[in-house]
This record gives sequence, structure tokens and C-alpha cells, in this order.
Amino acid sequence: MAVPKYKIYEYWRDKAITRSFQVKRLCDCTPEDDEVQVTGAPDEIFCWACQIPPYAQGEHRKLSALWNSDGLLQRAHILASSKGGENLPSNMFLLCPQCHAESPDTTNPRNFFAWVYYKRTHENFAMTMQKDFIKAAEILNVDMRELETQLPTVQTAEELSYLREEMVRRCAMHGTFLAPMTKMMAMVDWMTDEESQREFARWRKNRAAVPREREAEETYIK
Ligand SMILES: [Zn+2]
Repeated sequence: MAVPKYKIYEYWRDKAITRSFQVKRLCDCTPEDDEVQVTGAPDEIFCWACQIPPYAQGEHRKLSALWNSDGLLQRAHILASSKGGENLPSNMFLLCPQCHAESPDTTNPRNFFAWVYYKRTHENFAMTMQKDFIKAAEILNVDMRELETQLPTVQTAEELSYLREEMVRRCAMHGTFLAPMTKMMAMVDWMTDEESQREFARWRKNRAAVPREREAEETYIK
């Protein structure tokens, strides 16, 4: 039987990976370790390599239910079962499908942790998005400097969900996988489309007119 994701979380929640690729308890780390904490807040679900969060997360009263109902992360073996790796939380790590496919599968677990450390510090979700965005602009022959001046400042959670809906309208998936270039090219399209930008500005202006109390009601009472 598969190990519940919550069990894996419970094992890793107080662990960190150091710059020398050792697994240590967070409370034992020293400044020289320059560690990355494996997990975040107890109810924060994200890939433990690139930190991508799931698109949707149900509401659960219990943390275990929240973790066990997650549909994004896969259970990756640190030491492959074909090489004697056990089905134990200490030998498992929660990764998104892309990272799972990319993760090293050697007989030396140190390689796995070195890769996780690199992903967290050099290729995390935000950094990769930025690189892909620049690449998409380059492919589409759009001047990045110009794009930067009209970059919409999406600040609130509500604006973020507006943007997400806009992207859902414009993007198709490769099976369950949304290719980075799909997302970033759609983003460049959205930003360079004057009508879309006018619409966003109008929407934002209307939202600003909504009293705070009503906004709170709309956000939490469903
Ligand atoms: Zn990932």
C-alpha cells in the first residue's frame, strides 16, 4: 500500500538539506549549513524541489486530509526500490510530475539531495518562470524592455486569480502537464494585447469600488 502523503510530510517537516547535501534536523542546523527547509507551513503544499504549488486545493479541517487529498505531488523514492530502497517516509520525497521525471535515480542518495538543493536555490518555480518568460518574449520577438514598462503589477490574491483564469482560457494542457512555454507565451500575449489590458484595468477599477466588507464576504462565504 502506498505511504500516505501526510506520513511523508510528518517525517520531513522538521528536516533541512544543507549546502553539503546532508539531511539534518532544522533545529540542529548552524549558519554554515546554509540549509533549505524541506517543507513550509503545515498547510502549505508545494513541490519539495521546485516549490510549485497545486492549482487547486480543497478545504479540509484536518491536516492529514489536506495532505492525503493532494493531487499534484508524486511520491519519489530517494533510493529506487529496484536498488533496495524501502517504502518508508525517510526514503520518500514529494515532487511535482516534472521534477519527479527529472530527479536523479542513482544508488547514491547524496546526488538526490544535491539536486534538490540546486533546484531550490537555482531553479525554483519563480526563477524558472522568469527565465521562461524571457525566452517566450525572445521567441515572439517582443522587446523585454518594453514589456517590463507595461508589466501589470498583480498584487492581491484576487488579481492573481483573475490572471490565472485568463491563463486557463488561453492555455491547453499536454495531458496533465502544462508546458512552461504554453504558459509564458500566453502571458506575453495577454500583456501585449491592448484590449485585454484595458479590460484588466477596467476590472481592477471596479474592484476598487467594492467596499472591503463585501469583498470579504465574497471571498469567504461560498
Ligand atoms: Zn517540482
